[in-house]
Amino acid sequence: TQVLENEVAVITGGASGIGREIARRFAADGADIVIADIQDTPREGGEPTHELIDEETEAETAYVECDVSSVDDLESAVVAADEFGGVTVMVNNAGIFHGEEFLQTEEEAFDRMMNINVKGVYFGAQAAARRMVEADGGSIINLSSVAGLEGSGEFVTYCGTKGAVRLLTYSMAAALGPDGVRVNAIHPGLIETTMTTDDVSIIGSEDEDAFLESIPSRRAGQPDEIADAAVYLASDQSSYVNGESLVVDGGMTNT
Ligand code: NAD
Repeated sequence: TQVLENEVAVITGGASGIGREIARRFAADGADIVIADIQDTPREGGEPTHELIDEETEAETAYVECDVSSVDDLESAVVAADEFGGVTVMVNNAGIFHGEEFLQTEEEAFDRMMNINVKGVYFGAQAAARRMVEADGGSIINLSSVAGLEGSGEFVTYCGTKGAVRLLTYSMAAALGPDGVRVNAIHPGLIETTMTTDDVSIIGSEDEDAFLESIPSRRAGQPDEIADAAVYLASDQSSYVNGESLVVDGGMTNT
């Protein structure tokens, strides 16, 4: 049997980057998947992710157009999983980064990041948990960041949103644990995606070498290395792991 057999996963932001690799790995490991994203193709272009996974695996797949800042859209994404038997794993992965200076940050940019990175996680978890507590429980995985563990003067708003995700995770674990729902966070370090090549210019920039010096593993991580952590938290292999922060950062944070 496969490690995620009989699981049905909803992955927000699952068309690109980290979410895309989580969706691919989950499907390869036996889960059916719903990709909930504002677009069905990767940000850098290419074939729709759910079609690729259909070709690669035996999994049932669906794409739902979903802006995670809309509670109704999140509900639709969870409803789409009913077709496959109902959501058992919710991955609140969608997130955005923009790095204005603190003194220059405007209300609209602040609200947008809070609505996607924080409100989206809150109501994504709520929509999934309402079904999980009625069923046999489940696993909720929230994407925080190393930016949710340490502050940074350069990324004030982003750190605030990711710190919020961390304590929402612990608090939701406390609220839902008695009903058999586990809630954990993954805190990636520098992972090579469109976010880190384009939105925040680290990978491929003149600062890259200096940045890599601060990482014991001396390289950026790849999205599939976060997907491995997500498989662990989604599966029964982590059945007694709850309200935990799993840091996957090549050693950046503790050194
Ligand atoms: P990415 O930009 O490569 O992909 C993000 C995906 O989310 C895209 O498919 C995009 O269409 C989707 N998305 C954006 N806004 C959305 C919305 N409102 N509703 C639904 N979907 C939306 O980003 P990534 O690097 O894969 O990051 C995924 C998550 O991991 C984010 O929460 C990010 O903050 C977190 N993270 C990334 C890194 C990194 O180094 N890449 C590090 C730490 C944490």
